[in-house]
Amino acid sequence: MRRPFIAGNWKMHLTKAESIDLAKALVDLAPSGASADVAVSPPFVYLDAVAAVVHGTSIGLAAQNLSEKPNGALTGEISAAMLRDLGCRYVIVGHSERRQFLGEIDSLVFEKANAALDAGMTPIVCVGETLEQRRAERTAEVIASQFGGSLAGMDADRIERVVIAYEPVWAIGTGVVATPQQAQDVHADLRKLLTSRYNAAIAGTVRIQYGGSVKPDNAVELLNQTDIDGALVGGASLNADSFWRIVTAAPKGHD
Ligand code: PEP
Repeated sequence: MRRPFIAGNWKMHLTKAESIDLAKALVDLAPSGASADVAVSPPFVYLDAVAAVVHGTSIGLAAQNLSEKPNGALTGEISAAMLRDLGCRYVIVGHSERRQFLGEIDSLVFEKANAALDAGMTPIVCVGETLEQRRAERTAEVIASQFGGSLAGMDADRIERVVIAYEPVWAIGTGVVATPQQAQDVHADLRKLLTSRYNAAIAGTVRIQYGGSVKPDNAVELLNQTDIDGALVGGASLNADSFWRIVTAAPKGHD
């Protein structure tokens, strides 16, 4: 059974004090033995402070990005080993904001995901189509191409350690959520891509999160779709109660 995984992406929001407060509020809400894996992703500069709060609890720590290189003269970059050193278990890779505004292409996303795996972290690799691509009925083609360039080059023993996040660009931060059926359809397509590139057993193991305007009032229906194994949550993760309502909306898991 795939255990649900809910991750909060705090993006470039909050002060240090607010990050610590939010992390503390989540730790207070989190029972031991929750039925979903949970992680928060503060900005780099607050990872250490948030790590101190969540250390030893059921809340995992995720970074929002990493360098594809292990070390070197790369001013301003942060390596996988540094993130691991701070206690990060996960790292978001290829978020559409980085693909769109910072020129990240599939081959770079692939390298970054591998750098995370090399350091023993779980990459959360994001894929998703723009509104224009959806309107042109190119969603399946775009997802297949991103899967091909960002993920399919991995060996089987590595892809099993990856989390995929399907995040339609038109749903991120817009308040326009994909319908449960729209999301389920793309998740099922991703699972088919995993089956044909690897095999059914691996396709049945890899967790695929949905992201894009997930809120407490739409989470239950989305998370109950057969191929949706959790959520990557932006705006609603900045408030402890709304984020926790999404965590508790997750079912026990899907086979
Ligand atoms: C995200 O940041 O990945 C995201 C899905 O944001 P939001 O939930 O605000 O749409």
